[in-house]
Amino acid sequence: MTGVLDRFLRYVQYDTKSDERSPSCPSTASQLVLLRDLAAELRALGVEDAAMDEYGYVMATIPATTVKRAVPTIGLIAHVDTSPEMPGAGVKPIVHRAYDGRDLVLPDDPAVVLRLAEIPALADQIGHDIITASGTTLLGADDKAGVAEIVTAAAHLAAHPEIPHGAIRIAFPPDEEIGRGTEHFDVERFGARCAYTLDGGSRGEIETESFSADAITATFHGFNTHPGYAKGTMVNAIKAAAAFVTLLPADSLSPETTDGHDGFLHPYVVQAGVERTSVRLLVRDFATARLREKEALVERLAREAVARFPGARVEFAVEESYRNMKEMLDRHPEVADHAREAIRRAGLEPRTHPIRGGTDGSRLSFMGLPTPNLFAGEHNFHSRLEWGSAQDMEKAVEVIVNLGKIREEGN
Ligand SMILES: [Zn+2]
Repeated sequence: MTGVLDRFLRYVQYDTKSDERSPSCPSTASQLVLLRDLAAELRALGVEDAAMDEYGYVMATIPATTVKRAVPTIGLIAHVDTSPEMPGAGVKPIVHRAYDGRDLVLPDDPAVVLRLAEIPALADQIGHDIITASGTTLLGADDKAGVAEIVTAAAHLAAHPEIPHGAIRIAFPPDEEIGRGTEHFDVERFGARCAYTLDGGSRGEIETESFSADAITATFHGFNTHPGYAKGTMVNAIKAAAAFVTLLPADSLSPETTDGHDGFLHPYVVQAGVERTSVRLLVRDFATARLREKEALVERLAREAVARFPGARVEFAVEESYRNMKEMLDRHPEVADHAREAIRRAGLEPRTHPIRGGTDGSRLSFMGLPTPNLFAGEHNFHSRLEWGSAQDMEKAVEVIVNLGKIREEGN
C-alpha cells in the first residue's frame, strides 16, 4: 500500500478550486491540469484505457484478473476539485510525524492551531502521521485523499495480477463542491453495477444515508404605489414576507438547532421589493415523505402571514435537489454489506452515521448507480484546519483492494 502519502502530497499542490459562477465544465481550467496528469499516471501504471473526456471526467478500467465470468464490475469515485469558499492555490502540505497529542501550529499563520481538546477525532490518531496545510489555505484532503487512495489501489492491483478480482472502473469527476460532479457523469458508459465514493472521514466509516433535499421558493406579491399617496392602496410584499419568516420555528426545525436524524427548514436567500418579495428555503429530511410535511408547513405559515395583509398573495415553487441514497441502497443490500466486510478485513470496525448533506453518491444512486461513501481519512473539510491521516489513507487503500476480492468471491 506504499505510495499513497507521496501521491497525496503531490496532488494537493495542484490548484483545483471549482467556481460556481463559471458556466463551463469543468468550472475551472486548472482542474484539467490534475485530471490530465491523473489519466497519464494511470496509463503509466498499466491502466491502459485511462482517458479524459470533453467535460474533464477521467475514466479508466482496472481489467479483471478472475477467470470467473459473472463477476460484476464495481466503480471507485473521487472528485478532484476543492471548495470555492477557501484558498486552494499554493498549498504547502506539512507531515506531522508520529502525532502524540501535541498542538499542531501551522507556521504561515500561528493563530491556526489543531488542538486535541477542540478536535475529538484527533484522539484516534495518536502515533499516526497527520498532514495539514501551512495555515493560509485549505489542504484539499477533500477529496485528494480519495484520489490518492484509488490511484494507489490501482497501482497495487496492477502489480499483483495474482489477486483475483472483476473489472474495476475508476472515475475522477470535477466540480463536486459546486454540486455539479454528476452533471455529465455518464452512468451507462461507466458501466459499473455499483460504486463507492472515497470522500469520508475517520477510518472504518461507511455512509449509506444522506438527506433528501428540496428547495422551495415562496413568492409574496404586493402592490406598489407612490409612498406619499399610498394610503389604502399600497400592499407591501416585504412586510408579508417578513411576517412569514417570523412565523418559522426558531427553536426547532432549523440548521442551528438540529443534528443527527432531524431535518430542517432553512430560509437562506431573500429578494425583496414592495411589489414582490421571494424567500428561498432549503428543505431537508432523511425521510422523503417528511419533506412534504415540511413544505406543507411552509405553505400554511406563508398563507397565515399573507392573511394579515389584505390584497397580498403568495405562490410556491418546489424544486427537487437530491434524495436519500438509502432508498436506493436498501434495494441492493450487498453493496454496503461488501463494504462493511472489506472494512472488517482491514482490521477495522465499520461505523455508520447519516450525512447531513448530499454527496455525488446521493445523485448517482438515483441515476442507477448505487453509491455509498467510504472513509478516506479527511477531516475539517473546507477549512484552514483541514487535516488528513496517512495511516487512515493506507487503510482506505486496503479496503478498496478487499472490495475487489470480496466481489469476486461472491460470484
Ligand atoms: Zn468531498
